Amino acid sequence: MHKTAFVWDDQYLEYSFPGDHPFKSLRESMAKKFLEERGAFHQIDLVKPVMINEDLLYKVHAREYVEFVKKKSADGSGYLDEGDTPAFKGIYESALIRTSGTVTAIKILDKYDHSVNIGGGFHHAKYSSASGFCVFNDVALGIKIAEEKFKKIALVDIDGHHGDGTQLLLANDTNVLKISLHMFHKGFFPGSGDAEEIGEGEAKGLTVNIPLPPGTGDDMYLYAFNEIAVPKLESFKPDLVFILNGGDSHFTDPLVELKLSNKGYLDIIKKIHDISHKYNAKIVMTGGGGYNYESTAKIWTLSIAELAKLDFSEFLDLEDCCYIASSEFVKKKVIEIVEKLKKIHGL
Ligand SMILES: [Zn+2]
Ligand SMILES: [Zn+2]
Repeated sequence: MHKTAFVWDDQYLEYSFPGDHPFKSLRESMAKKFLEERGAFHQIDLVKPVMINEDLLYKVHAREYVEFVKKKSADGSGYLDEGDTPAFKGIYESALIRTSGTVTAIKILDKYDHSVNIGGGFHHAKYSSASGFCVFNDVALGIKIAEEKFKKIALVDIDGHHGDGTQLLLANDTNVLKISLHMFHKGFFPGSGDAEEIGEGEAKGLTVNIPLPPGTGDDMYLYAFNEIAVPKLESFKPDLVFILNGGDSHFTDPLVELKLSNKGYLDIIKKIHDISHKYNAKIVMTGGGGYNYESTAKIWTLSIAELAKLDFSEFLDLEDCCYIASSEFVKKKVIEIVEKLKKIHGL
């Protein structure tokens, strides 16, 4: 019922930006170590990614862009975008193995109830450009491949940033419900993800953006999640749920000003887990952002333990007993956003 696979290759660790760049693969190695130390891999299967053929990338990326990444990867200098995503030697190969991990996580779902690729979750990558530390959009690609087997796919993106690349790549896909909860504020990356962005053409209404103000704590985050995301998921009745579990909505994150605690994160994962079983849906979960490395590794560890139903209660910190409260100002703002979203989405 909770048979879980953990997709992993040591080569993942090579996808780590040099110098003082905030994206480090230390998050992934720490999470794997936390799981190992607690004997998790006696119950969770370790699965190696099967390297994808480059052609598969063309499902979501321009051929010229793939060539550009290869060239920059061989040079190992400059940037893949306007200045957030530096090129390093081998970035193409390390991005490809992580993308392959998400594809593998999808493909093994005939043998597992849940599969996890913490090496994935690059939701900012666009059709012909890198963005926000993301080279290839494994999320959109994984979903495109999943569509060969699944009819109704729900993406729930709880990274602190809007999943703009994925939204663009799947905007008119009528088989996919795309829910993104993220911080939304003037000047905050990537700038998109407002409530009015609801998808295109026949897929109108299948894009659900839940923009949250800085300072949103567990109480109001969960309120927005329960009022909007939950009824949307329930009425959609997915057969596959794709969780993008970015760790940067955590209150300790240095780049995002949302205030989810481990308890808040776990509540969300538990709720999605329950809904998935209710509709006999499989779950695939990737990582995402997360710039407090230890917090992110803990969130992933606890989330994986929840999916596999392992008892990791001793792993929770003392402070994880309590929710983080939002200010009165934030409460008012979130209530307004939720009311607006209810009108937009007919809830
Ligand atoms: Zn389960
Ligand atoms: Zn993020």
